[in-house]
Amino acid sequence: LGGSISRAIQQMSNATIIDEKVLNECLNEITRALLQSDVQFKLVRDMQTNIKKIVNLDDLAAGHNKRKIIQQAIFNELCKMLDPGKPSFTPKKGKTSVVMFVGLQGSGKTTTCTKYAYYHQKNGWKPALVCADTFRAGAFDQLKQNATKAKIPFYGSYMESDPVKIAAEGVERFKKENCDLIIVDTSGRHKQEAALFEEMRQVSEATKPDLVIFVMDSSIGQAAFDQAQAFKQSVAVGAVIVTKMDGHAKGGGALSAVAATKSPVIFIGTGEHMDEFEVFDVKPFVSRLLGMGDWSGFMDKIHEVVPMDQQPELLQKLSEGNFTLRIMYEQFQNILKMGPIGQVFSMLPGFSAELMPKGREKESQAKIKRYMTMMDSMTNEELDSPNPKLMNESRMMRIARGSGRHIREVMEMMEEYKRLAKIWGKMKGLKIPKKGEMSAL
Ligand code: GDP
Ligand code: MG
Repeated sequence: LGGSISRAIQQMSNATIIDEKVLNECLNEITRALLQSDVQFKLVRDMQTNIKKIVNLDDLAAGHNKRKIIQQAIFNELCKMLDPGKPSFTPKKGKTSVVMFVGLQGSGKTTTCTKYAYYHQKNGWKPALVCADTFRAGAFDQLKQNATKAKIPFYGSYMESDPVKIAAEGVERFKKENCDLIIVDTSGRHKQEAALFEEMRQVSEATKPDLVIFVMDSSIGQAAFDQAQAFKQSVAVGAVIVTKMDGHAKGGGALSAVAATKSPVIFIGTGEHMDEFEVFDVKPFVSRLLGMGDWSGFMDKIHEVVPMDQQPELLQKLSEGNFTLRIMYEQFQNILKMGPIGQVFSMLPGFSAELMPKGREKESQAKIKRYMTMMDSMTNEELDSPNPKLMNESRMMRIARGSGRHIREVMEMMEEYKRLAKIWGKMKGLKIPKKGEMSAL
């Protein structure tokens, strides 16, 4: 998505005259990109209409920074779409709240319940988990295992088959124990069946939740709107959590879920582990959706993990946009030395997903070391040239021989380099925000 939107804007900014036709072409391009990113058709159409209203052609013609005006309009419009206008009910520490989780089977409810409990526990709350899923075999075991690992009290039964009864008992019990966050995990069927919705309604009646959280798998695509709407119609959904944002999901479903439930996204799930859970923040999310990287998160991380004296130089290089092999070498050194810098680059679109996939750090490290060995056989000219074409076959042969590797590996490394250089090049000329200052543009 990010790529095609930036391309659309880029093309437009190259046009000398910005008239209605050019603007329309640009908007059509963006429309296509948003649809591909699973944003619902109606939402895209509304956005298109709004942008046309906002972007004043006279302003554009008058030579204002066209690209910036349009980018800003798109950015603002997407942010608005993610803001339902009112915050969700927020539980208060020390005061009992019941929170019920709903969503289709496999959407990530049970995992997310524990993450949600764990997140609050770390912040000094007294959470508890109730398993009201009697439909799926093993549901209670799964919750029990998660809860035990996180040392969170839980309630459930192997014998009782009535979810309403268990839910009511569990909530009752934890209220007595003065828990301040009682979390009810419910069952989810494969499809949006009447039986699931009826059961959900009954559990809700029996537990009187202060907040119902709809959990949605981010990879469900265009189905997001209808699914979210179906849940909203059966039970008073007040907030949304979007899961599996670590995968190939395009994220457009979040916009649909907000539109369909008129509720905000409050957290996102970014992995299977307990702490792969983030508070949802609209602006960085939209930046990422637009392929601009999460600048505020990126800058915070840079300030956090890159040594103070190296920061200005790194930022300077970023804004120049020329990614040489030497810069790659230095970044590899940083990654090996400091580890967490990998996290910094993982915030930039496409940077670490392929080079350093999560959970395979060891292999990634070995690969990086191998690349560095090959680069040790390069000349200064090769390391400092911003032109990848310099690396012809005979040079690659020489490097392979010099480092005792196969030419195929040198070629593979050069592919990796080109991929990174492309991403790095996108940052050229970008005004890099100072710490704490958020600017996606
Ligand atoms: P439920 O049926 O709605 O309770 O869903 P589960 O909590 O059992 O999750 C279904 C699967 O999705 C499990 O394998 C989870 O580990 C996985 N899962 C849940 N959340 C995430 C996430 O944010 N990222 C990834 N990668 N996997 C997730
Ligand atoms: Mg479950």
